[in-house]
Amino acid sequence: MKVWQHLRTINHHKSLVMKHCFKVGLYKQGLLHDMSKYSPTEFLVGCRYYQGTRSPNNAEREATGYSKAWLHHKGRNKHHYEYWIDYSVDPGEGIVGQKMPIKYVIEMFMDRVAASKTYQGSNYTDRQPLEYYEKGAAKLGKMIHPETAALLHFLLKMLAEEGEEKTFRYIRRKILKK
Ligand SMILES: [Zn+2]
Repeated sequence: MKVWQHLRTINHHKSLVMKHCFKVGLYKQGLLHDMSKYSPTEFLVGCRYYQGTRSPNNAEREATGYSKAWLHHKGRNKHHYEYWIDYSVDPGEGIVGQKMPIKYVIEMFMDRVAASKTYQGSNYTDRQPLEYYEKGAAKLGKMIHPETAALLHFLLKMLAEEGEEKTFRYIRRKILKK
C-alpha cells in the first residue's frame, strides 16, 4: 500500500488543476476538482495500485478486468465526458455522449494538462496533452459529443502551438466570457 506516494500524487495533481482553473476564473471547480479521490472507494485502490507514471486505475483494470475506482469516479465528476454518457432521445441512436457545459469542458482540459505535468514531471511539454488525446480520439466514437470533442481538441492544439499563457488567456477572455 503506497499511501503517502498516492496522497502526494493526488494532492499535487489537484493543486495544479486549482492553479490552472483559478487563472481562468473557475474558482469553485478549482477548489472542488476530484474530491471523490479522497473517498475510500477511490483512495484505497489508488494506494494499492499506485504507479507513479500513470493512473492506478489502469493497473486495477489489468488486475481485475475493470476499475471500480474509475466507475466510482466518472459517475461523480462532471469534468469527465464519460459522466455525460446517456441514452439518446432518438431511440435509434442508443447510448451517446451528451453535450457538456462549457465550464466542464474547460475543467477537463485543465485536468489533462495537469495529469500530463504530474506524470511527466520535468519531461512535460505543451504538446503532450494533445498527443495523448489524439492517440485515443479515434476510438471514442459517439461516447463524446462532437461539439465537446471539437472544443477540447481545439484548445489542446492551441496549447501545443501557442503555449499555456496564450491559451489560458483565450479561455478566460473568449470562451468563458461568452
Ligand atoms: Zn477527475
